[in-house]
Amino acid sequence: MTVVQKYGGTSVGSVERLRNVARRVAARAAEGEQLAVVVSAMGKTTDELLALARQVNPRPPRRETDLLMATGEMVSSALLTMALVDLDCPAVALTGAQAGMFTDDSFGRARIRGIDTWRVEEELAEGHVVVVAGFQGQSPQGDYATLGRGGSDTSAVALGVALRATQVEIYTDVQGIYTTDPRIEPNARCLRDIASEEMLEAAQQGAGVMHPRAVELGLLYDIPILVASSQAEFGSGSGTLIHREVQMEPENRVRTIALDRDVASVTLRHVPDRPGIAAQLFGPLADAGISVDTIVQNASELNLTDLTFTVSKGDCDQTEELSRPLAGALGAADVLFKHDLVKVSLIGTGMQSGPGYAATMFRSLSEAGINIELITTSEIRITCLVQADRGEEAVRVLHSAFRLDEEI
Ligand code: ADP
Ligand code: ASP
Ligand code: MG
Repeated sequence: MTVVQKYGGTSVGSVERLRNVARRVAARAAEGEQLAVVVSAMGKTTDELLALARQVNPRPPRRETDLLMATGEMVSSALLTMALVDLDCPAVALTGAQAGMFTDDSFGRARIRGIDTWRVEEELAEGHVVVVAGFQGQSPQGDYATLGRGGSDTSAVALGVALRATQVEIYTDVQGIYTTDPRIEPNARCLRDIASEEMLEAAQQGAGVMHPRAVELGLLYDIPILVASSQAEFGSGSGTLIHREVQMEPENRVRTIALDRDVASVTLRHVPDRPGIAAQLFGPLADAGISVDTIVQNASELNLTDLTFTVSKGDCDQTEELSRPLAGALGAADVLFKHDLVKVSLIGTGMQSGPGYAATMFRSLSEAGINIELITTSEIRITCLVQADRGEEAVRVLHSAFRLDEEI
């Protein structure tokens, strides 16, 4: 049986940590398992590479940005392999392309089109641990394309699916998935398990611990994902399992709270209220691969309406380029951009069957004097946009209002 593991940036962030990961991997390989290991870039390497790019060009070309960023994962995969070989554990490092990861050409947010696993399987069959550079693949033109920040998780789950692994193990710098980011709320609890649907919403709403598309793949192909600390013993039972079947907690139906800081809001003011406006605006944004979230249209006055939506900060420049001329063509008075908002989301499948969650959320925020700028919901989520400087406080207020620190 093939095991796919992934080690995140912090876990491979120094020579000492790389050696520690190598010891873990070698020990697991010695048990006779075929191991494919996906790695992230060391520590803050990706941020540093991006900063470097912006020093030479404030708006660096996307293709070359991907080429540059992809080097981070190549460094860590090569080094981990060297550390494994030093432990007499036969290993080979492969770039995403060498591992057969084929993507589309949406630089910076490429999607995996398919994986040709022949090389990986051949190396595994020869008894090598295969160390794959995460976060990257090869575009149809043969260029390096990256999968979006945090995308090594997706490389790992995709490889797990392609190799028919029974489970994918994601090793990171926390014990598992918590009731909220433990860096924001020290009383957050580590969950034993979480439903894939809940984790997907949480990841889409900013819970940076997992890349949303990794969770999506896990759900689609029904492959369980174990999230655990890269320091914990394997088989110790620690960590969180993301899977389809979850025992519902009887009392508290909010499973986790997510904070998304990567939000920019765009408002087109005084747009004429006629059919087709939304289609004319959102069509070109979708064509450019920009995901639009939280769309709110205010009640119209004198046949004019304000249309607000959110995008991720990284898409803001492109959204501005596209929406300014469109706003002009649509007859809007002006376009306003706001960067000082964050999204706070309550997530839990159990919320569907109980009323009062929204009321408690709004009351708790109002009692803390936190103003809600926008509200959106899905079946298993309630999201409020609040001022960025109150976001963490909002998370803590809600964590305690829904008593998520208490074991049930
Ligand atoms: P890696 O480099 O291993 O991929 P990430 O930084 O991407 O690690 O993800 C781990 C971080 O996610 C944690 O350090 C934690 O601060 C953050 N995080 C956010 N939400 C949660 C959550 N609900 N549970 C656990 N960690 C979370
Ligand atoms: N190194 C990339 C990032 O920092 C990918 C990853 O870590 O998953 O976003
Ligand atoms: Mg990550």
